[in-house]
Amino acid sequence: MSVLIPVGVSNRHMHLTREVLDTLFGRGIELEVYRYLRQRGEFASKQTVEMIGPRNRFSAVRILGPLRDRMQVEVSRSDAVFLGIFPPMGKFASLPDGESLELKGPNGSIKIAENIMVSRRHLHLNQADADEIGVRDQDSVYVAPVKMTADPAESRICIMGNVLVRVQENFIKELHLDTDEGNACGLRSGDMVYVVPSSIGYYAEMPSKKLVTEHDVRQAVLRKQKIRLLKGTIITPAAKDLAKSYNIFVE
Ligand SMILES: [Zn+2]
Repeated sequence: MSVLIPVGVSNRHMHLTREVLDTLFGRGIELEVYRYLRQRGEFASKQTVEMIGPRNRFSAVRILGPLRDRMQVEVSRSDAVFLGIFPPMGKFASLPDGESLELKGPNGSIKIAENIMVSRRHLHLNQADADEIGVRDQDSVYVAPVKMTADPAESRICIMGNVLVRVQENFIKELHLDTDEGNACGLRSGDMVYVVPSSIGYYAEMPSKKLVTEHDVRQAVLRKQKIRLLKGTIITPAAKDLAKSYNIFVE
């Protein structure tokens, strides 16, 4: 399992619609790029918004661009506790018990009770990465850090479960965590993780081949994949022996 995945830790942020940006900053205002993110076309903008909860406020929460069709405010669980709200995890749903959050820009403000969430940790992969690891879109996997700090006794080693796999052709491989998750596990943006092989399901298949060798079978075992035999596929005797004990072939 040699695919190393860089970590991207996201601080609290929001994605806005044209309409909301107009309300907060004035009609026709464009987002200005502060810093490009690893995923293509995505950027942190120079513009920030004040976020006011029932209990506390954050003075400058960054807007990520480009604009979207649906607004999405993402905070960590610690942020939510500080603000005094209890948003759902990883889905669009209303805040409970009539809670709301105010977003305030230089031109105006809005109060929202939905489109606020604590993000579910997830893995961005393109199809080639996903095939190599042996996972599919919407799988749930475990990830582990590749290396620890110089003194392992000082580091917070976590294996994280329930990591959602998201596969799209334009994705660049990256594990997205929020600041709670990064801090709890001692991970920062740019650190490396890998997918723990034991968390990969048995349903993925290797790309079909005309010649299947012992090496291919070993790879399939390691990745918990099956190998589909096509008409006329040649299998070496060693591959046949090994495959028998693992029940790797599907016809
Ligand atoms: Zn992401």
